[in-house]
Amino acid sequence: MAFDFDLYVIGGGSGGVRAARTAAETGARVALAEEYRMGGTCVIRGCVPKKLMVFASGYSGAIEAARAYGWSVKAGAFDWKKFRKALHAELDRLEAIYRSNLEKAGVEIHDQRATLDDAHTVRLADGKTYRAKHILIATGGHSFLPDTVPGHEQAWTSGDVFLMEDLPKRVLIVGGGYIACEFACILNGLGVAVTQYYRGAQILRGFDDEARGHIAELMQDQGIGLHVGSDVERIEKRADCLWVKTTDGREIEVDAMIYAAGRIPNSAGLGLEAVGVELGRRGEIIVDDYSQTAVPSIFAVGDVTDRINLTPVAIREGAAFVETVFNGNPTKPDHDLVPSAVFTQPEYGSVGLTEEAAREQEPIEVYCAAFRPMQNAFIGKNERVLFKLIVSAESRRILGCHIIAPDAGELIQMVGVAVKMGATKEDFDRTVAVHPTMSEEIVLMKSPVRKA
Ligand code: NDP
Repeated sequence: MAFDFDLYVIGGGSGGVRAARTAAETGARVALAEEYRMGGTCVIRGCVPKKLMVFASGYSGAIEAARAYGWSVKAGAFDWKKFRKALHAELDRLEAIYRSNLEKAGVEIHDQRATLDDAHTVRLADGKTYRAKHILIATGGHSFLPDTVPGHEQAWTSGDVFLMEDLPKRVLIVGGGYIACEFACILNGLGVAVTQYYRGAQILRGFDDEARGHIAELMQDQGIGLHVGSDVERIEKRADCLWVKTTDGREIEVDAMIYAAGRIPNSAGLGLEAVGVELGRRGEIIVDDYSQTAVPSIFAVGDVTDRINLTPVAIREGAAFVETVFNGNPTKPDHDLVPSAVFTQPEYGSVGLTEEAAREQEPIEVYCAAFRPMQNAFIGKNERVLFKLIVSAESRRILGCHIIAPDAGELIQMVGVAVKMGATKEDFDRTVAVHPTMSEEIVLMKSPVRKA
C-alpha cells in the first residue's frame, strides 16, 4: 500500500510538534496540519503568555517591598496596551521558531484543519487527501462557557484575557482550578479588583488540603474577594457593567467576567468515531499505555487524551510515541511523580501524593513548616511560605512534597529530581542547609507534625 507520509500529525501544539520533528529526524516522511497558530495552547494562549503576565503582575508587590527596604520609588500606572503589544510580539517570535524548527526537520506543514476519512487517510479543509502509515492526533483542548448560566455568553475564557483592549477595573473569575487561581493573582497584581467564585468547599480541588487552605488565605490577604461554596446564577449586560447574581444571594457589578471552568478535549468533528477511535465521556481519546487508540494506525497524545494535561507531559508522550513507532523501542510515557506548579503569587509547587491520598495508601509521617521568610519579616509583610513533606513511615521515602513560596515552581523542579530518585527523609536530613534561604527548611524539619 502506498503512503504519502510515514506520519501525519494533526495539531501543532507541544505534543504534536515534538512528535513531528523528532519523527522527521529519524528519516520518516512527516506532515503536520494546524488550523490556527503553531505552538498550540501553551505558546499561544496558555503557559507562555500567562507566565509573562505573572512576571508583569509581580512588579507591583516588588515596588512596594523595595520602598519598605529603603528605596524611594513610586509604582506609577501599568500600561496594558504597551505590555500587550510586547506580549504578542513575543508570541509571534515563538510561533515562528516552532514553525522553522519543523521546516528545518523536513516536516511538511499544512495550515488547515484536517479530519479523518479512514484509518490511514487525512482530509484537509481544501479537499486534498493524504495517506499516512501512522496518524497522530494532538489537537489539545479548549475552554468553555457553561451554557446553563443565563448570560454566560457575556463572559470571557482565559484566552480572551490576552486579547482584551483595556484592563478592566473590576473582574469576576469563576472556577477554583489552576487557571482561575492564577488569573485571580495576576489581575490582582495588575491592580484590578478581583472577585473569585468557586462552587466547591475549597479552591484547587485535588491538591493537598493544607496547601489549598494556605493558598486561599494568602489570596484573600492580598485582597482577592474569594467566595467558596457558591456559584454564579445569572449574568446581565447593563449599560456600564456586567451585573451578576450569585447563588449566595449577592449582586455584583463588574467590568468583565472570566470563566475558568476546565477544558474539553478537541476531538469533535475529526471523524474519529466513524473510523473506530474510542472516545470517553468528556470526548477524550482513549489510548493505551503507548498512546495507541483502538485503531492500530492512529495514536493520540496531549490534552486530547485527558491524562495529565500539562505541556511537558504532552511533550514526553509525543517523544515516547516516536521512540515506540519510529525507533523500534516500545516506550510508555511516565506519568508517575510529575512535578507541577500553580503560578499563583506566591507559587504552589507540588510533586507526588497529597497528604490525603498518601494516608489512604500507607502509614505516613507529615513534616510541615509555615513561616514568614526573612525577606518578608524584615518589612512586616505577613505572607507566609509553606514547606511540607509526606513521608512513608515504613520505607522512609518522600511520597509527596508541597511548597508554597516565591518561585516554588523553580524549587519543586529540583525536589522533583530527588523524589523521582526515591529519596528518603533521611537523605533530605543528611543534606546540609543552604543558609540563609527559606528552602533550607526542607532539610531542617526534624519532627513530624503528625503521623497517620
Ligand atoms: P481545572 O479542571 O483545574 O479547574 C476547573 C474549575 O472550574 C474547577 O474548580 C471546577 O470546579 C470549575 N468548574 C467546572 N465546571 C464548572 C461550571 N459549570 N461552573 C462553575 N465552575 C465550574 O481547569 P482549569 O481550566 O483551571 O485548567 C485546565 C487544565 O489546564 C488544568 O487541569 C491543568 O491540567 C492545565 N493547566 C496547568 C497550569 C499549570 O501547570 N500551571 C496552568 C493552567 C492550566 P470543581 O472543582 O467543582 O469541578
